[in-house]
Amino acid sequence: MAKIGFIGVGNMGGPMAQNLIKDGHELKAFDLVGQTLSRIVNAGAAQASSPADAASGVEAVVTMLPAGRHVSDVYTGSGEVLASIDPGTLLIDSSTIDVATSREMHQAAADAGYEMLDAPVSGGVTGAEAGTLTIMCGGSAETFVRAKPFLDVIGKNIFHAGGPGAGQAAKACNNMLLAINMIGISEAFNLSDALGLDRQTLFDIVGTASGGSWALSNYCPVPELVPTTPANKNYNPGFTGAMMLKDLKLSQDAAQSLDVTSPLGAAATMLFSMYCNGGNDGDDFSGIIRMLRGSKVE
Ligand code: NAD
Repeated sequence: MAKIGFIGVGNMGGPMAQNLIKDGHELKAFDLVGQTLSRIVNAGAAQASSPADAASGVEAVVTMLPAGRHVSDVYTGSGEVLASIDPGTLLIDSSTIDVATSREMHQAAADAGYEMLDAPVSGGVTGAEAGTLTIMCGGSAETFVRAKPFLDVIGKNIFHAGGPGAGQAAKACNNMLLAINMIGISEAFNLSDALGLDRQTLFDIVGTASGGSWALSNYCPVPELVPTTPANKNYNPGFTGAMMLKDLKLSQDAAQSLDVTSPLGAAATMLFSMYCNGGNDGDDFSGIIRMLRGSKVE
């Protein structure tokens, strides 16, 4: 069993860290928010006083932070992780960030003599809790093999997508598709309500028909159809509208820089921008069904 430093133990990082503890690993955790850190300390992690403290004296470091600026600050800025780790420490960044920052982090790690993997995840908080995340990895094949035993604890479907940043590239495509799916599902339920269809009936039919999707079956934006979803908790996240907007912007920045036509990705970015600017940025992204309906979902 390994000593692991875990930095960022929020909605996703918390349950991922817990699964590593349950598997017998020794964790040192750090988070900027004291209450968030306390939760994982109560679950058995040692409390670190800084990112550098969490990352020193361990065999592997896992980061699960909001965006690229947090990741670069932790590894190469004020967090001083790269300056504090022991020789041979394996670095795994599971945050969803832009490909450019991810590649910069890989380069900085390589320059300092460390192996790094970008390993963003998909599957939401329920997938993180169940240890069933899909994990898409970028880095060398050797680093992937080294990280796999840890990733097997937090995920179920684990892919080596390619070289540095390839995991982030796959994640940007996935989340653009998820956002478009969620908007489509919301529109379908709003239309079916107006047509007088029973919601459970539509859910059952579409779930086995050609309109079905992961988002419908696992993350339905209508309450009472899938018990575990944020829709049943007044759209408490889960995955915030702000995070989804961040990911959509990553997809559109990439599309624009590479001259890729992405009209539905662009429309989804606009709609989630309206959703966030309307004061819903801290609500779950599936709450966009309320905005599209023009009212609350009862
Ligand atoms: P979150 O806001 O719940 O957790 C992020 C944590 O990082 C917070 O607790 C925050 O205090 C901490 N943090 C920020 N800066 C820090 C620093 N410098 N040092 C230490 N801690 C710091 O967010 P989340 O929902 O857990 O998402 C984390 C990442 O996972 C994001 O990149 C997100 O896009 C991605 N993701 C989220 C989901 C989801 O369903 N929530 C699913 C897949 C991927």
